[in-house]
Amino acid sequence: MSTTSFDELGLRPEVLRAVTEAGYTTPTPIQAQAIPVVLAGRDVMGGAQTGTGKTAGFGLPILSRLMAHSNTSPSPARHPVRALILTPTRELAIQVEESIKEYGKHTGLRSTVVYGGVDIKQQLPIVRAGVEILVATPGRLLDHIEQKSVNLGQVEVFVLDEADRMLDMGFIPDIKRIMALLPKQRQNLLFSATFSNDIKKLADELLNKPQLIEVARRNSATETVTQSVYKVQQEGKRGLLEHIVRSRDVWQVLCFVRTKHGASRLARQLEKDGLATSAIHGDKTQQARLEALQAFKEGKLQVLVATDVAARGLDIDDLPLVINYELPHVPEDYVHRIGRTGRAGAKGEAIAFVDPAEEKHLAEIEKMLKMKIMVATAEGFDPDRAPRDRAPERRREERGARHGSERPTPRREAPRESRRPTADEREAAYAKNPDQPLTAAATTPRAAPATTAGRARAGFRQREVPALLKKRVLPEPEKV
Ligand code: AMP
Repeated sequence: MSTTSFDELGLRPEVLRAVTEAGYTTPTPIQAQAIPVVLAGRDVMGGAQTGTGKTAGFGLPILSRLMAHSNTSPSPARHPVRALILTPTRELAIQVEESIKEYGKHTGLRSTVVYGGVDIKQQLPIVRAGVEILVATPGRLLDHIEQKSVNLGQVEVFVLDEADRMLDMGFIPDIKRIMALLPKQRQNLLFSATFSNDIKKLADELLNKPQLIEVARRNSATETVTQSVYKVQQEGKRGLLEHIVRSRDVWQVLCFVRTKHGASRLARQLEKDGLATSAIHGDKTQQARLEALQAFKEGKLQVLVATDVAARGLDIDDLPLVINYELPHVPEDYVHRIGRTGRAGAKGEAIAFVDPAEEKHLAEIEKMLKMKIMVATAEGFDPDRAPRDRAPERRREERGARHGSERPTPRREAPRESRRPTADEREAAYAKNPDQPLTAAATTPRAAPATTAGRARAGFRQREVPALLKKRVLPEPEKV
């Protein structure tokens, strides 16, 4: 655990005040290392996964440095863009800008975010009025530059966030066009969860004698996440997902699939099965994605099905479980996916469903992680047998549970049983047993029977909502 305090890092008092108000008491390792370096004006190559506190790692010192430009003039000319932060996705852009607003609320500096998928006209008045800090996705920024609503001629700090994903998404030509419009004399910060040769090449072009700061091992999964694998036929995956969600009483599950079409289909099927579910993927409008995300964060949705691109950068406090319904083809995506849970030091769990055709992807992931992922089993989900249709049995069991009533239990009530615990309940559970895992253990040797009545017979009670590690627990620094 870092022993540095925020006061010792050289940040301006206006910024420190916001840090205290955000409830941060100790800098995370990336913050302790990056803040003094960024304040000193040096370039940074940051190896940090999302969830390590990297936004404050670059946001706080940038705000501190730009305070000298803070002014109350209504003239746009007095508020040119001084810091440009590029992110690969809209969701990440929004989250980064929210954080910048929070950290900068006493500085008098202005910030905004621009991203595609919404009418550019809405963004024009704000950017034209002038902002010191602009968070943007590359394509939309280029649209603004074309429309002359944004000028990059006075940028002092350029941040490339999640550079590896920028590369994967084919943004490099856009980024190069943007870089060409920046003043030669500037500070550059590049953050990436992984370091491929392509990233190193980009870093060579962008950075000037950078300070290398790493807080997570290269290509390693975050260590606060318990990982397991269920070997299951493709047709058995949906039943297994439902079984895990219901039997463990998980209130929020982020479920990854490979395709947009697959995401929509699975979300529809799970809705039919009575789990409050929505899907986010690239074909959904920005509005629909934001609404789904909001409903998920508020606990109105129990399952959010996502594709890799749509889920990039999602920051969901205390997300207990990520399910890889289908394994990604690129092993690094597995690390990104499971990084949605176990954030800021909290414990999380990641489960992967692997059918025989996906074994080769599992092998690649394990090779990259340099570890074997534990194999778990669930009763009734034999990997070698095609699943039977569990629906009639489930309906019978439910009728039985209602003392012979012919009307099935309305399945939509399920989320109420497995509602997200209140902060008080979480604190109480934590106080009682800080080591208790977030959910029933992924690799529990005693899998719960699949049906409600079966569980009752076997003496399974609705599991008490499990303990959560206190938020704001900091990850240990770890260097390579
Ligand atoms: P990030 O990696 O920037 O997405 O941050 C992940 C989460 O950690 C966010 O919810 C932040 O609010 C939180 N966070 C960032 N810095 C700290 C800190 N020093 N102490 C506690 N929580 C933090």
